Amino acid sequence: MKFSSLQKYIFSTLCLCTLYSCMPPETSKADRDQQVVDLMSQMTVEQKVGQMTQITLGKIHNEGQLNLEELRFAIIEKNIGSIINVNGSPLSVDEWHALLTQIQDVALNETELKIPILYGIDAIHGTSYTKGSTLFPHNIGMAATRNTDLVAQGAKTTAMEVRASGIRWNFDPTLGIGRQPLWSRFEETYGEDVYLTSSMGAAAIRSYEEDGLKNITAVASCMKHYLGYSTPLSGKDRTPAYIPDVQMREYYLPPFEAAVAEGTSTVMINSGEVNGVPVHASSYYLQDILRGELGFKGLAVSDWEDIIRLHIRHKVAATPKEAVKIAVNAGIDMSMVPLDYSFYDYLVELVNEGQVSMERIDEAVYRILKLKFDLGLFDNAYPEKEAVANFGKPEYADLALQAALESITLLKNEDAILPLSKSYKILLAGPGANNIGALHGSWSYTWQGDNESAYNANTLTLKGALEAKIGAGQVITNVVADYNNAANTDVSFVKKNAAKADVILLAIGEKSYAESPGGIDDLTLDANQLALAEAAIGTGKPVVLLLAQGRPRVISSIEPGVKGILNLYRPASQGAKAAMEILFGDHNPSGVLPFTYPKNSGDVVLYDRKNSENFKESEPDTYGLGGFSPQWPFGYGMSYTTFGYSDLSLDKENLLGEEVLNVSIIVSNTGDQDGQVAVELYVSDLFASITPSEKRLKKYKKITIEKSNSAKVDFQLTKNDLSFIGQDGKRVTEDGEFNLRIGDQEATFVYKN
Ligand code: BGC
Repeated sequence: MKFSSLQKYIFSTLCLCTLYSCMPPETSKADRDQQVVDLMSQMTVEQKVGQMTQITLGKIHNEGQLNLEELRFAIIEKNIGSIINVNGSPLSVDEWHALLTQIQDVALNETELKIPILYGIDAIHGTSYTKGSTLFPHNIGMAATRNTDLVAQGAKTTAMEVRASGIRWNFDPTLGIGRQPLWSRFEETYGEDVYLTSSMGAAAIRSYEEDGLKNITAVASCMKHYLGYSTPLSGKDRTPAYIPDVQMREYYLPPFEAAVAEGTSTVMINSGEVNGVPVHASSYYLQDILRGELGFKGLAVSDWEDIIRLHIRHKVAATPKEAVKIAVNAGIDMSMVPLDYSFYDYLVELVNEGQVSMERIDEAVYRILKLKFDLGLFDNAYPEKEAVANFGKPEYADLALQAALESITLLKNEDAILPLSKSYKILLAGPGANNIGALHGSWSYTWQGDNESAYNANTLTLKGALEAKIGAGQVITNVVADYNNAANTDVSFVKKNAAKADVILLAIGEKSYAESPGGIDDLTLDANQLALAEAAIGTGKPVVLLLAQGRPRVISSIEPGVKGILNLYRPASQGAKAAMEILFGDHNPSGVLPFTYPKNSGDVVLYDRKNSENFKESEPDTYGLGGFSPQWPFGYGMSYTTFGYSDLSLDKENLLGEEVLNVSIIVSNTGDQDGQVAVELYVSDLFASITPSEKRLKKYKKITIEKSNSAKVDFQLTKNDLSFIGQDGKRVTEDGEFNLRIGDQEATFVYKN
């Protein structure tokens, strides 16, 4: 019998399909990892489902000790593949090594297949669960630096300290964009802009993974929380978001696209629901977009308890078992269960009953085991002794200081009150003045970051740093460590002592919090802090605010009365020192806002607003301010020097097809101090088929210019920088006129496909 070439092709394809029917489509190719395939061929259903099961350390660890019986049950009886977290307080490097050694000992010596455990941790802004590690400003501050090199160096340091702790999987970076300032995880975001988030997130991922996952300087990154988590309608954590597809693709998807392009190894899924569909149950987001469109090949882990919550919270599954079926069939590869073995038990049943296919299980297990091989866990699962030398190097503190210095944002400097003279007597008050947690926020040695005794002993409070800077004798204060202690907002102390002081310094804002416990009902700053500020203003002494906060709390009632304002964000381990360097002029501030700072809590209009949001009713005596009336706009931040922009030049007026538009500008330091400046390029599409934004950030560069000097800054723009998501959900660049702005300079050009 003779075969036509088409028949031969069909026949050979069928054979291959049969041979590799247990493999997912992307791994059925020649580049599949044979070691993984071989290992999987020896595994039972139970062993495979166990790999998909992740528990929290607390399940097997109590009173500071591993419970060996529970550990053996988890690994030997339930075949679990992954463990996360700490149980309460941070561990030292040695303690981590001892713990992980015991865990891997059971996995390697007491199981038939000797599959190592994959340990994951939330090292969100530094190695948050290891004693003595360096913590960097939260992403919201890193975004204010407009310095991707700092993000990259911070992430590299984190990779080294996490790996030195014996851990190889980091649940970072957070790529949700901060467009809902009420949200309690706002500080974990890079702010409200798509490009800023995409570029900084990609820089972090590159640093985490670029050395190769087997290297002791790398960890597997985890882009999270995919997709649409950061903008719950109510502002409350893990409550519904309503995001039309066009907006999802315009604002929320691009950072994840950039992360996949950068090669992130894993993804964590959004705990919330979008348009009425929990993302853990959405094959549209988990398959069609994540795998189909973005081409992501890595491991998808659920967030905390989010599979069972399809039943108990979201009510899309009538039973816990149905929840497991829905989530696994939608595309979840690993369940952060993490408090029991229900996921394991139900999934084994579901596979045996044919309700979840073996193909789906194999696809998930392939991804998990592939990551374990890639991380070198099969070569050596134990903490790598040689990595320990990379922990706690003195230069990490310098880097954390530099990041804090470049992030802190000078928002007001009336009458050039700042920098302050070091000979001043300072009255210091406010709940953030003697509290370390307020400078750090979430994921800081503990989940909530509010355990003052968990911080490194040498971490300074603002009070400590102030006294170190100008001498304790110059500081008049009664502040205590406990954030909510009434002494910190004691109006009578301020009134009584103001006459002795040259300046009143108020450290206000927010205590440390993480996730839902940080929920607020009002963006306005707490009443007792506003009262403190009003009393301080009432003394007639100049008042300077230090805002240690994770999100922009409204301060419009006190802002007119104060002379100076520094937004510290969550500046972390070197934050107090950095604040004092800036306050007393030893460093020139250069941070700029990564979000629009609202003036009123009911008026949250973002910088990349639609033109119709600029509209202001001309009727007198209307209730609201209308139009775009923020306290300070995105990109705002002052310096102790001044910068001027000139000679904006575009190398063409008409940009065609795939051509590159070369843009240059001269930036001059026109003041009398050296300084850094964030040069930002904004583009406005003047007319488009989907209402264009007023402007969008497309490029930025942080540069240093000495006083009386100038620098030429170059940018390149291409068609993609001018694109948007059209009505059909597809990215398009339309012909037409564009406006380009850098500083106070602007120019127009025309794009033609
Ligand atoms: C958070 C995740 C985190 C996980 C593990 C969840 O509550 O949403 O960001 O990675 O806990 O700690």
